[in-house]
Amino acid sequence: MIGRPIKAGDALRKKLARLGLVTEDDLLLHLPLRYEDETRLTPVARSFCGEPVLLEVEVRHCEIQMAPRRQLVAHAFDASGDISLRFLNFYPSQQALLTPGARLRVFGEVRGSFWGLEMVHPRCQSVTAETPLAQTLTPVYPTTAGLTSGALAKLVQRALEGNDLADTLPESIRSRYQLPGFARSLRFLHHPAAGTDIAALQERHHPAWRRLKFDEALAQQMSLRRAFLARRQQGAPVLQGDGALAQALLAVLPFALTGAQQRAVAEIAADLAQPYPMQRLLQGDVGAGKTIVAALAACQAMAAGWQVAFMAPTEILAEQHYQKLASWLVPLGVRLAWLSGSLSSKAKRAQQEAAAADAQLIVGTHALIQAGVDYARLGLVIIDEQHRFGVAQRLALRSKGNNPHQLMMSATPIPRTLAMSYYADLDVTVLDELPPGRTPVKTRLVADNRRPDVVAFVEKMVTEGRQAYWVCPLIEESEALQLQTAEDTCAQLTADLPHLRVGLVHGRLKPDAKQAVMGEFAAGELDVLVATTVIEVGVDVPNASVMVIEHAERFGLSQLHQLRGRVGRGAHESSCVLLYAGPLGEIARQRLKIIFEHTDGFEIARQDLRLRGPGEFIGARQSGVPLLRYVDLEADAELVEAARDCVDEMLSGHPAASAAHLQRWLGQREELLKS
Ligand code: ADP
Ligand code: MG
Repeated sequence: MIGRPIKAGDALRKKLARLGLVTEDDLLLHLPLRYEDETRLTPVARSFCGEPVLLEVEVRHCEIQMAPRRQLVAHAFDASGDISLRFLNFYPSQQALLTPGARLRVFGEVRGSFWGLEMVHPRCQSVTAETPLAQTLTPVYPTTAGLTSGALAKLVQRALEGNDLADTLPESIRSRYQLPGFARSLRFLHHPAAGTDIAALQERHHPAWRRLKFDEALAQQMSLRRAFLARRQQGAPVLQGDGALAQALLAVLPFALTGAQQRAVAEIAADLAQPYPMQRLLQGDVGAGKTIVAALAACQAMAAGWQVAFMAPTEILAEQHYQKLASWLVPLGVRLAWLSGSLSSKAKRAQQEAAAADAQLIVGTHALIQAGVDYARLGLVIIDEQHRFGVAQRLALRSKGNNPHQLMMSATPIPRTLAMSYYADLDVTVLDELPPGRTPVKTRLVADNRRPDVVAFVEKMVTEGRQAYWVCPLIEESEALQLQTAEDTCAQLTADLPHLRVGLVHGRLKPDAKQAVMGEFAAGELDVLVATTVIEVGVDVPNASVMVIEHAERFGLSQLHQLRGRVGRGAHESSCVLLYAGPLGEIARQRLKIIFEHTDGFEIARQDLRLRGPGEFIGARQSGVPLLRYVDLEADAELVEAARDCVDEMLSGHPAASAAHLQRWLGQREELLKS
């Protein structure tokens, strides 16, 4: 179904399209940013109030002043007092309007100046004593170059008059949530009655706003639900074995699964046995133990005779997974393959790819999705740290097989309301319990002029048998500079700590060299590991109990949380030292405060969301959020939940209204989701 296109000439249509306005529905739903009150007159003497006001004045005289710069100044008055109207840029037409004796309505903000009250660049209208005042508040629309809000207002008005504004919500839903009618709400928001509380309206607190936001949230949730149902229509291999391989793995683990892990394993196992593709996100804070859950899922797929691809965002992390999975599974007879983008020679690569075709479990980086890698029987795809991949990469891996099941993992916890939108077409499992025996990490904030104390602290901890990470600043502008800094830091620490073994790992190292250094650190042959953020995700060395982060003020919250999660994995008390250099900007100061005060990844994510807003929070357009213009996921959480509860009722009970609703709100926008 295609919406009614806006009737306009080519030039205007192009401008409107820049605002995303293509159909009449788009125009109707293009709601004002704010309002101006031209429904009442304010006496000049009471006009100095910090708010824009409408005055009715008579021009006394008008002149062009040349100093301090050329400007048009009119002196005007009403019964209560005098005011100057000042125009820094002006047209002859304005000059003509401002002739002595002219009666004008002027709209703008009044300010006090040395010479008394004045209004700069007021909007002027020539009137007679009979000219009526506006009956409703004046809408101010978001607009674009070459298109005034007033021109848009006329188009919107025409659309309001030319459409039936049928209500797409059944009466049952409207009364359940006490939602006013659509037409009434929409007309009100475009033209609120005189006397309406403008501030509340601009905060989008009004039953009419509630109605529109509910509709928007409902359209979004319906659309995501449809994507979810469409996925269910696709077939996928039924992965059901006798569970022997998973049992064998559990038997050799040195630990027992936590309750949360057991629940996750059971949920995933049930999904894999379905004839449609699983699309599940496993969320768990850093260190929650997601890897073993994924390994058990892999066992189920392999036992059923299918291949598993396990993809991680960095070489180091993929390598770690490979080592860990190999140590668990090779003794059980599983054939593993390793595939990475930087395997040295072509021949070696080819060999690996051949192996991949035969292997049961293929671990690697995004090399897994590159052309030339064919999987004979890919049944399950596991994506670690999924937020680090774009949608395209995820889709590419899915297209490698015939609709393999997908398990995505993320340690960046997403607040529930956001998850509902970002992942409404995913099922989400949360690991809400950390394995026992973790020691809380002590976080300290230290100004960088006290760096020697930190060096001494590291030395003391190493004497006690611990190991330390020392993370170098992120330098976004220059990778070369970042490398230089890491090398300098390493040299400096080597000089400061002559008895300690200091190693360096960074992104430019050849994979072999990288693995060698990581291997030495893991084996306890290095005391201090200087690193760039390559160690950000996933690295697991339980004996490391100190994490020093230099220039912590340059890191994002989730990065700091991830880095801090590298320690506190063993039995020893751990610390995270955040070295910072002042003066701190406001955002940096808040970030450090949050990371200092909170250890719970979900709380940190919530605060991060508040600091940054949902758009930046996850970045990629991998979600239903672009479908929301008016709903605020945090503030309107209750409405989003309510809308979600109505989705099935709408889709199955009111198919015609559903179609009309989706058409009205999403139109061609819905395609965004599918791309
Ligand atoms: P993440 O969720 O951050 O990926 P990992 O899977 O790397 O966490 O697990 C972190 C550490 O905890 C690993 O050393 C892992 O072997 C260990 N671990 C996982 N589950 C348990 C458990 N139930 N009991 C004890 N240790 C566990
Ligand atoms: Mg992990």
